[in-house]
Amino acid sequence: MHDLTFAAPNTVSIPTADGRRFPVRRIFCVGRNYAEHAREMGTDPDRESPFFFCKPADSVIADGASTPYPSRTENLHHEVELVVAIGNGGSEIPLAEALDHIWGYAVGIDMTRRDLQTEAKKSGRPWDMAKGFDGSAPVGKLIPVSASGHLAAGEISLHVNGEIRQRGDIAELIWTVSEIVAELSTLVRLQPGDLIYTGTPAGVGPVLRGDKLTATIEGLPSLHTVLV
Ligand code: MN
Repeated sequence: MHDLTFAAPNTVSIPTADGRRFPVRRIFCVGRNYAEHAREMGTDPDRESPFFFCKPADSVIADGASTPYPSRTENLHHEVELVVAIGNGGSEIPLAEALDHIWGYAVGIDMTRRDLQTEAKKSGRPWDMAKGFDGSAPVGKLIPVSASGHLAAGEISLHVNGEIRQRGDIAELIWTVSEIVAELSTLVRLQPGDLIYTGTPAGVGPVLRGDKLTATIEGLPSLHTVLV
């Protein structure tokens, strides 16, 4: 037996709409999964396969908590996204079985240091510090599939200080939730507790300290956070 050198960190968890806690294991994100957003970022949505990047589990910010404005950026962007929570793990998951692996859904915001991301793209460097910083993953209360069913359509939107900034429909996802789960499970073995941010519709833009963000998806609890 060996003593731990310091206390193990607490397991990160987020609240569910029915009063429980969902332990977060890993956070995966899909890049450019709505055509209009791909175009606003200067790429052709028809010619690109989906790709993934990650955020640390402890970058989550729960609904109602404030989001710290990160260091080393002057262009922090919001990206409202449908978040899929994995309940049953697996690898090489067949497309037809993909939905069976989902525990529930939430709305989330993929906060992005756009200036660092633009620089990383130019120099062919990793996106980690543009995407995976502290507080980069606000997420709303999770709704279990048993309560919400599976979400294939519905308005997704983001307001800043009451003004609409992003609006789309999750029916416009280039890669569907089933396809994302099946594809990601060919790259890693998905595990219970994994979250997947599924990409953002058009309208991304900068936020400042003091801004109040409200992220919504039809059928899910809204997510509220203030930049501080
Ligand atoms: Mn995103």
